[in-house]
Formats: sequence, structure tokens, C-alpha cells
Amino acid sequence: IENNLHIMRLDRGPTASFKDFAARLMARMMDYFSKKENKKLAVLVSTSGDTGGAVADAFHGLSNVAIVILFPHKGVSQIQRMQMTTLGKNVRAFAVEGDFDACQALVKRAFSDENLKKFNLTSANSINFGRLLPQVFYYVYAYSRFGSGKVVFSVPSGNFGNLMGGAIAREMGLPVEKFIVAVNENDEFPRFLKSGIYRPVQPSKKCSSNSMNIGHPSNLARLVDLYNGWLYDKRSRNGAIVKKGILRKKPDMKKMNRDFASYSITDEEVNMAIKKFYIKYKKLLEPHGAVAWGGLEKYGKNNKIRLGISLETADPAKFPDEIGKILGIKPKIPISLIDLDKKQERFEVIKNDYKEFKSKLIKAIS
Ligand SMILES: *Cc1c(COP(=O)(O)O)cnc(C)c1O
Repeated sequence: IENNLHIMRLDRGPTASFKDFAARLMARMMDYFSKKENKKLAVLVSTSGDTGGAVADAFHGLSNVAIVILFPHKGVSQIQRMQMTTLGKNVRAFAVEGDFDACQALVKRAFSDENLKKFNLTSANSINFGRLLPQVFYYVYAYSRFGSGKVVFSVPSGNFGNLMGGAIAREMGLPVEKFIVAVNENDEFPRFLKSGIYRPVQPSKKCSSNSMNIGHPSNLARLVDLYNGWLYDKRSRNGAIVKKGILRKKPDMKKMNRDFASYSITDEEVNMAIKKFYIKYKKLLEPHGAVAWGGLEKYGKNNKIRLGISLETADPAKFPDEIGKILGIKPKIPISLIDLDKKQERFEVIKNDYKEFKSKLIKAIS
């Protein structure tokens, strides 16, 4: 983009989201190992937007795995919804009348439900370690293109799965000076880094970068653990969350602040970033990538960046309304998304109610 600043585009897979990387590798590994062990699997996913599509596409047509996706009814874009609901075969989709956190709570509860053990339920959310490992590669790859000194990555973050891939890469020796944890108006993490006090944003705020509308990142417990802290959710006997995000032991805040910087980018700043970026560089960002770029810019105001790589996690064509409003142009549709709107959708709307979900789930995977 400029001398020492780069964009890493991770949006060239079949669903035009960075999640394709991890989902596809994980799907094939799960199919391979479950066949070897001679048992069928049922994958349960909750999604705030792009996970569902990437995971559905990754597993679609594999013979040994059924897949059930929960997404917030009216909380995802039309393209995102259609990527999950038009596949059919081994892919089923439920629209939950609630937000992403509600979807995630239903899924987590199903995992700890004894009556569902026999279905070999498994997760494809970023709480699954198999989703994190494939993400280590592109951090190392990107660095290898430039290769010396230390690098700053800006990561547009929701559940912190992408960020954890980076953190693991650093643990493995990648010379990362800083990870910029760029978030939208769900600003629990930047506030935590500053104050040491953790308070989930409840309910999560609805921003244009809708895959990052997370008020309590599911991978944060992992990150906190990596820095010798202990963060957990208090649960009742049946697995339902009673209280989210209890910080039992503070992580090493000094070290965390040395390794991470975090900024909240408002929707207004996102729109500005998209506009300025287009005018200055003649290149398109979509809202998630703009959050990352905005974070890199904020960091750059007070810090010298020798090598900065900002992650773009979705194709701008997935956000035609936002881009149209901001720039008055229509982003070019990638091949993978052409004709999506001509396919037939199949999904069921369900209440945010565990009993209803459970009975429909059993029907779907029996
Ligand atoms: C999922 C997603 C994110 C957030 O990634 P996390 O691993 O949940 O932090 C960012 N951008 C896009 C486009 C996404 O789909």
C-alpha cells in the first residue's frame, strides 16, 4: 500500500472470507480421522456472519459429517445467509430469534448435554483448536515475503480466533513486535488492556463489521491463559451460562500491553477509513478490513512502524450496501459469489429456546 505498510488479503477462498483457510483444512482432517475411527460426526456451529458460510462450504458433501448451523435471524447479511442456506445435502441451517451470543449459548449447552453424547457432536467454531492451527501459516507466510526485523500485524477481531493463530505463531518464534487487536464498537478488550478490569459488552453492539459484533470473545479465555490469567464463564448444572467473563486471576497485564495494542474503531471511523483509503490508494476495503486499517493508523500515530501488515478478512463484494453508501460504487463480485442469489434457500426460524432447539437438532442429525 505504501513503503512499509501492506494489506494481507485473506478473502480469496470459496466463500470470500479468511475463515475458508481454517475451515477447509479442518473439515478434511475431521472427515479423514472420523472415517479412520469408523464413527459419524455432527458438527454444530454458531455464527455471527462468515463462519457459517465458510464452515458449511468446507464440509458440504463430505460423507461422514452432518452439519448444523445457527445464526441470528436478521443479524447476518443476505449474502452471508445465502452461503449457509443454499447448499443442502449434509448442511442444515437454523435462524435463531436472538443475537450471536444466544446462538453460541445454545450450541455450548448442547455440547454439555448428556443426552446428545451419542451423536458425537463437535464444534467448528473458533473454540475448536483445529480452527486456529491453520491460521498460523499465513502470518508466517506474510512475514516470509518481507523477512527481516519485527512486524506489526493488525487483526480485525471478533472472537479472537484469527488473533490466536497469530499469537501461536509468535509463540513458535515469529518475530512480531505487536499485534494490534482492532475491534469495532464492542470495546471490552481495549478497555480491559487499559484498566485490567474485564466487562463483556452485553448485549453486543451492532456494527457494520457484523462478523465482529461480539461482546465477549470466545477465545479470550485462551489468550488470558497464555498470559497466566484465568477467565471463565460461570455455568449452571445444565451448562447454561449464568455469568459471563469472570476474571478469577489477572493475567500479566504488563506483558500483555507490551505484546498487544488494542483500539476500538467506530462505524463512523470505518466509513471514513474506507473513503480515505479508496481516494488515496484506489483500493477497496470492506468494514472488517477497515477496522484493522483504522487500528493500524491509530497505532502509527504514536509509534514508528517498520513493517506493518493489516489483515483484510472479507471481499468488499459481500458488503455492497455499505460500500455503495460510502463510495457510490458497486464492488466487483468474485466468481465464487456469482449466481448465489438464484439458488434456493432452506432454513428454519427457531426461538431462543434450548428445548425447541434440541428437538429440532435431534431430528436434523438422526
Ligand atoms: C470472523 C470474522 C472476523 C473476526 O475473526 P475472529 O477470529 O472471530 O476474531 C473478522 N472479519 C471477518 C470478515 C470475519 O468473518
